[in-house]
Amino acid sequence: MTSLSDLPLRDNLVGQEPYGAPQDAVPISLNVNENTHPIPDPVIEDIVASLAEAVRGVNRYPDREFVELRTALAGYLGHGLTAEQLWAANGSNEVLQQILQAFGGPGRTLLSFSPTYSMYPLLASGTDTGWIDVPRPEGYALTPEFTVAALREHRPDIAILCGPNNPTGTPLDRDVVLAAYDAFDGILIVDEAYQEFDAERESSVALLPGRHRLLVSRTMSKAFAFAGVRLGYLAADPAVIDALRLVRLPYHLSALTQAAATAAIRHSGEMLATVADIREQRDRLATALTELGYEVHPSGANFLLVGGFADPTGAFETLRAQGILIRNLGIEGHLRLTVGTEPETTALIDAIAALGA
Ligand SMILES: *Cc1c(COP(=O)(O)O)cnc(C)c1O
Repeated sequence: MTSLSDLPLRDNLVGQEPYGAPQDAVPISLNVNENTHPIPDPVIEDIVASLAEAVRGVNRYPDREFVELRTALAGYLGHGLTAEQLWAANGSNEVLQQILQAFGGPGRTLLSFSPTYSMYPLLASGTDTGWIDVPRPEGYALTPEFTVAALREHRPDIAILCGPNNPTGTPLDRDVVLAAYDAFDGILIVDEAYQEFDAERESSVALLPGRHRLLVSRTMSKAFAFAGVRLGYLAADPAVIDALRLVRLPYHLSALTQAAATAAIRHSGEMLATVADIREQRDRLATALTELGYEVHPSGANFLLVGGFADPTGAFETLRAQGILIRNLGIEGHLRLTVGTEPETTALIDAIAALGA
């Protein structure tokens, strides 16, 4: 049987593991930070009607510039943005890959602060971009001083600040973004995959005017409850969008994706109606686990990083056997828990309480 090692694989892919969060069919799936609430039926009906209309046109290639969707995304983000400042792709992962294709590559570097999103190093190796991993300070929060020192020391071509940060939940303060932008000459990406869950901090989209190297990445996969559609997007200077056009595949966003996403944005109020409940469940989960003696890290997202597990792998497997899937990221003593509905949260609290019994 042929194996990977028999193939003339590119050097920087040798020994790499593919992204591999388990995809078990379990009743309570809290391992990849999806919004576990269903989409309301009237919204589903409108999306289906838009898809039916789009299917009539699929003998033709879709609008390569997806102008209607970009206009809808600009309207959703506000801040006076226009379609020329918006871009989208099949998940923000593809947007990030296009950014690395345009601004990274051989001889160039990407820097971020770990623990952070596990896809960043994989996207770096996939585009032959050097990966610079700077460990976060105790407690995971970045300060302007710490961030500036790292950027001045390493002078990366691209840096990513993930806020709120996955997997720690740590919110990202505006003064860190502003200091980072001024600290180096490269592309600064703020990954706001979880922005809608952070009630306290305004989006970095507000900082775009006058900052042409600032890129703000967003997704419909989390708060918007649209992970299966694969739609990520970016707000940036129109010149940055021009750069991404050089590397995107022609017609990369299918007519069906464009139609579904545009319809969903028409209903953004209803799509995001569950965010307040998720925040409430997050705070309830945090309180319950703190009372049980666990260390709960502050979170601005729809998940919690929780420390104090004597045996994280054992706890992960015990919950998995009960039909509750969470995430074990290999951080000592820690597990990551996505915040679901009220009944899911109750089941999770009960299962963790029973671990100690
Ligand atoms: C989930 C997540 C994304 C979203 O990826 P998509 O490709 O849009 O589904 C991006 N960044 C971070 C940090 C995430 O956790």
